[in-house]
Amino acid sequence: EHVVNRIAAGEIIQRPSNALKELIENALDAGATSIRITVKDGGLKLLQIQDNGSGIRKDDLPILCERFTTSKIKAFEDLSSLGTYGFRGEALASISHVAHLIVTTKTRDETCAWKAAYADGDMVPVKSGSKDSAPVPCAGNDGTVLAVEDLFYNTPQRLKALRSAADEYARILQVVIAYSIHNAGVAMSCKKASAGSSNATADVNTTVGASTLDNIGATYGEPVKSQLFEVAADSAEPRVKLRAWCSGTNYQGKKGRYLFFINNRYVDCSPLKRALEAFYSNFLAKGTHPFVYLSLELDPNKVDPNVHPTKKEVGFEDETEIVELVCERLADVLASQGD
Ligand code: ADP
Ligand code: MG
Repeated sequence: EHVVNRIAAGEIIQRPSNALKELIENALDAGATSIRITVKDGGLKLLQIQDNGSGIRKDDLPILCERFTTSKIKAFEDLSSLGTYGFRGEALASISHVAHLIVTTKTRDETCAWKAAYADGDMVPVKSGSKDSAPVPCAGNDGTVLAVEDLFYNTPQRLKALRSAADEYARILQVVIAYSIHNAGVAMSCKKASAGSSNATADVNTTVGASTLDNIGATYGEPVKSQLFEVAADSAEPRVKLRAWCSGTNYQGKKGRYLFFINNRYVDCSPLKRALEAFYSNFLAKGTHPFVYLSLELDPNKVDPNVHPTKKEVGFEDETEIVELVCERLADVLASQGD
């Protein structure tokens, strides 16, 4: 049975960056304004995320890694109308099947934090040698620290499919960068754990109060930031709220970037990307690629809810109309502002 669960979990969590994306979304759902990430060996040795969100109630800890345990839906029918990040209750369960998971958490009304460990969906003793798997009291701040250790220790074929720690770390950073840009108002940091020293410099470090544009500048540099234009629309038909920062017609960037968010999830959207590429190919010099940060808020009922959890590609209704709307607004902005 464990083997079957492990294989299923390996489909959901294919690499460290998939796990981290789920953990970041959970922290954001818990209302965190500070998210601190520490990574060892490209996330294979350690992936730790500390947030200052709501915390998890001690009574909920025993079932935390049971499949479909979620505080975010009441009934299965709610699935299609759910607006928040998570909606499946599968992420932590899956992670516990392919890694050692240790959770330290404190809600505002607890006097101390509680620590619990998980393996294969179940709570297991925190201390090795102990038989008691109940959560143990410990010191801790309000919020949650989740440590994912030795990812894929029991699924060697998953490990083999990964390229290198450096490559996995680059993917992790890309996820952190995307969410830090999208979530202005949340301080996010990501650093490699270094033996001995706990104050290694962070590779991502955003602060509360910085805007999306500020965070783009901090990440991609002032020259990129200064060439961006704001594109926004609130359309009733098709119903969509668009917020974007897009490079202009004389953009000099060599590194193209597309950061798409649909209902606050970092996604791929091929039709949108293709349309933007075609749009910019009318202006940009060869070898030059645009920078586009773009957020769409859609009726959750119109976003395909059955996409595979890690399948970043997301589909939605009225796609053609919405993609057209994006390109029209972008054309208007670039025509009126010049550059
Ligand atoms: P989902 O996010 O789809 O509900 P998960 O497996 O990702 O499923 O998480 C299960 C549940 O654990 C969440 O619904 C939430 O109640 C709780 N949880 C997970 N991470 C956190 C966190 N960082 N802070 C508070 N609660 C959390
Ligand atoms: Mg989740």
